[in-house]
Amino acid sequence: MSRQVVPEARVARAAAPFRQFIVKVHGHCNLACRYCYLYEGPDHTWRTRPAAAGPEVLDQAVARIAEHAARHALTRVSLVLHGGEPLLAGASRLADCAERLRDRVPENCAVHATVQTNATLLTGERIATLARHGITVGISLDGGLARHNTLRTDRAGRPSWPAAARGARLLADQHPQAYAGILTVIHLAHDPIETYESLLELRPPALDLLLPHGNWSTPPPGLPTRGTPYGDWLCTVFDRWWTAGRRETRIRLFEECLALLLGLPAATEALGTEPFTAAVIETDGSIEQVDALKSAYEGAARTGLDVFRHSFDQALRHPGVAARQAGLAALAAQCQACPLVTVCGGGHYAHRYRAGHGFTNPSVYCADLQRLIRHVAARLAASAARTPGGAAR
Ligand code: SF4
Repeated sequence: MSRQVVPEARVARAAAPFRQFIVKVHGHCNLACRYCYLYEGPDHTWRTRPAAAGPEVLDQAVARIAEHAARHALTRVSLVLHGGEPLLAGASRLADCAERLRDRVPENCAVHATVQTNATLLTGERIATLARHGITVGISLDGGLARHNTLRTDRAGRPSWPAAARGARLLADQHPQAYAGILTVIHLAHDPIETYESLLELRPPALDLLLPHGNWSTPPPGLPTRGTPYGDWLCTVFDRWWTAGRRETRIRLFEECLALLLGLPAATEALGTEPFTAAVIETDGSIEQVDALKSAYEGAARTGLDVFRHSFDQALRHPGVAARQAGLAALAAQCQACPLVTVCGGGHYAHRYRAGHGFTNPSVYCADLQRLIRHVAARLAASAARTPGGAAR
């Protein structure tokens, strides 16, 4: 049963259509990372689902996405081929899924397809197949050195790093145009500058630096504490990146923080108050909310809907989805009164959970987010002051 606390008045505003569709083409993984919230966390729904999405599920998912794109006259949708490890389904099946969606959406709707992989199964042939079909490749790593990735092992405890590093280098060398970037969960034990510089060695066009999933009832590693270890870690990387003139790579969290500070819209799950517009299709066709919610409690991402019986418009009316589209109105009173709220937005939804209170709380990373946002604002203001006639707009 859902434990989300969403008063009716907060879900009444018009829904923004989904624009990102995360399709679980394969629900299992060839790795068994020791911190994985999907397989080691409180949610076990993956155990009862088919390992891979069958052709009928992928067909119906594609039909529903196309239907949603047509109904809302979308000019662009994002298709994220996800897992588990999606390459366990084979590169050809991923290509087929992307091509079928391109065939089904209205003519003026572009499909941006990405596969999110642990990189261990990337071969020259598979990368070429993905690139040929216009699928970009996002890689998940804990850093750019073997010792950053010691928790990323297979079920027998063998390190994934040699294969993952080989896959990332193949991608950077052979098909840089298909390289979407690297997603890295922050580990406080890893030096921030060393982590950042080691990732740069893998030549990613973009980096996602993610806070580990946790909440008030199951705090992330290192919290609670009187300090701001995650904020400090991020500020250190920010200074390194900012000083280099931001040319080395894009860092989405920082770019979005800067955009929000300048009053620009930023589509991010981690910051801001823009409606969240991603939906997940599981291997059995279930429509769910994003995986991160599974770090809160068993079934937290469930909607009870599926692509065979329900449209994505019906999913938009689910209270959990609506709560993530309600902006300021859905935030805790403390966040609504916070001077940083237009930038922070209460942080990642999953990080607000407290057992017995649902998600209407500040982020468990509140102090760390304040540290980062104030630091970025100060650097931005100092930079604007140095620019002739410049003031941050
Ligand atoms: S989580 Fe903290 S910093 Fe963010 S809006 Fe809420 S009170 Fe402000």
